[in-house]
Amino acid sequence: MYGAILGDIIGSPYEFDKGDKTRDFPLFGKDSKFTDDTVMTVAVAEALMNAKGQSDGQIKAELIRSMRQWGGKYPGAGYGGSFREWLKSDDPKPYNSFGNGSAMRVSAAGWLYDTTEETRRAARLTAEVTHSHREGIKGAEATASAIFLARNDHTKEEIKEYIIKEFHYDLSRTCDEIRPAYKHDETCQKTVPEAITAFLEGESFEDVIRTAVSLGGDCDTLACIAGSIAEAFYGVPAALMTECRKRVTDDIKAVIDRFDAARGRAGGNAVIESAISEFKAGKNEKNFAAVLEAIRVRMHEKGQFFIPCRAPQAAVDMIDPGTVKVGDTVTAKEELHFKLETLHTNDGKTWLCAVTSENEMNKCRNEHPLSSICTDIYEFLKFCRTAKEDGVVINPWGEYFTLSKDAIKLIFDFDKPENKIYFEVGDITKLRVDAIVNAANRTLLGGGGVDGAIHRAAGPGLLEECRKLNGCGTGEAKITGGYRLSAKYVIHTVGPVYRAGDAKCRDQLRDCYFNSLELAKKHDIHTIAFPAISTGVYGYPKQEAAEIALKTVSGWLHGNPDYGMAVVMCCYDEEMKKIYQSAVDELSAGKDKK
Ligand code: ADP
Repeated sequence: MYGAILGDIIGSPYEFDKGDKTRDFPLFGKDSKFTDDTVMTVAVAEALMNAKGQSDGQIKAELIRSMRQWGGKYPGAGYGGSFREWLKSDDPKPYNSFGNGSAMRVSAAGWLYDTTEETRRAARLTAEVTHSHREGIKGAEATASAIFLARNDHTKEEIKEYIIKEFHYDLSRTCDEIRPAYKHDETCQKTVPEAITAFLEGESFEDVIRTAVSLGGDCDTLACIAGSIAEAFYGVPAALMTECRKRVTDDIKAVIDRFDAARGRAGGNAVIESAISEFKAGKNEKNFAAVLEAIRVRMHEKGQFFIPCRAPQAAVDMIDPGTVKVGDTVTAKEELHFKLETLHTNDGKTWLCAVTSENEMNKCRNEHPLSSICTDIYEFLKFCRTAKEDGVVINPWGEYFTLSKDAIKLIFDFDKPENKIYFEVGDITKLRVDAIVNAANRTLLGGGGVDGAIHRAAGPGLLEECRKLNGCGTGEAKITGGYRLSAKYVIHTVGPVYRAGDAKCRDQLRDCYFNSLELAKKHDIHTIAFPAISTGVYGYPKQEAAEIALKTVSGWLHGNPDYGMAVVMCCYDEEMKKIYQSAVDELSAGKDKK
């Protein structure tokens, strides 16, 4: 819900074509306020939670009740004329609208159900109570489906294909093509496709919002819809969540928290707290394992911890009490380093601290003047594994639990894949792995073959990062982000050009695989996909290249028996897969002979 609300707040000063159609604008200013988009998003979320599992009729009745109640509470939030009438009417009936209101309020439907069918059904119901026109329903269903697919790890390409196939929206235009002629338009038909395009083009949560606002028009609603999908795809940076909470009322915050708990994200750490309570009561090994399991589950749900910390003096100095009011955003001129709070125990050990909820954080605030930052449990625990401290104490001011480094390792080990090699036929950019290896050229700036495919799928962000890397030597490996790919990383390596009878090329090809795996290990990557390096324009005979690839990869896996690496050898076509198969046979026959 943060995504929709942030889009609304950030877009609100620029609504009615008031902006300059630029991506470059201050995210928050004095006019950044929540509007009808937020109020109705909250109303729909509350109704869907209240009526979960009930009949269509009951869900609709609850939607009508909730929307009218919230509308009554915030009468001046900026509703359209017909909707205002509906809010006041003694007998509220659908009015065949195709306004974008059905899409701006629907986001909760994208999160609360387990299948696309259920998601679309709920989205349809949220529209039908007012926006019963076919286009009004379509706008809501399309938005909710995009959220559902994004939060279930589908790629942007897959989401785009689904939306085109199911809803026939035109997603062929770029934002640069849409922008010049785009004007304020409150219909679903002229808002939803544009918002989805902004989501597809943006390269991070914030960039999606900026892209949507840059289109102009009804841009708080555009950004609300685009932001709701971007949240599901990227997550929302903790700093923006904090900004969002500062700008909404307590009753809205209460629904956000209830919603987060219901869908098991931030705010859903109660599972950890109750596992700790049981452990404290029982203190047996099984209960200990249950705490680790609760943390692991929350980690997968992208749950967050509050991390108590001390603000550096520079941050305190920055705040001039004469001019800065509560709720203002202050931007630092320098990078600030917050000191994480640590505790020392009698046995000489030092511990980082993590807190599961606002409530637990308040217990500490009673005694210590500490700030806190919100961070992904996954990122935090990953950091703890290599930090100099001995581990983490969870909720040190309440019912505490000490999580040693060994225990953190256990949590991560549970998810480790087995060391294994797989073969997949198809396009490498479509694979769901942590890292895709690119058989790049020396400049890393994009070329043909697999390199071109990866650059096209990853988008301009990859090109920009590659520009900074200063190229790559043959057999070397370098790493960048994955940008629009579903892979988090791209590992770039340059294969040798084949020269018959030259032993050096063999070594260089081996280096490509070996160095890519070493670099992956350094970045804690556990699933990686390789193309058949050098077998395209660089002309390496496929059989020979396949043998070198397999020998190197299996050698590396043997050398790292406990690491847990799933290696996918991506074959562009069936022919390559057969070649790998025969290389496997060849290699195992060789072993048998020995
Ligand atoms: P190189 O310059 O290393 O030979 P190429 O890109 O020309 O690199 O080709 C490497 C291999 O990758 C070839 O066997 C080619 O068929 C295959 N390939 C090309 N595009 C893709 C793709 N999108 N996904 C997987 N493999 C691909």
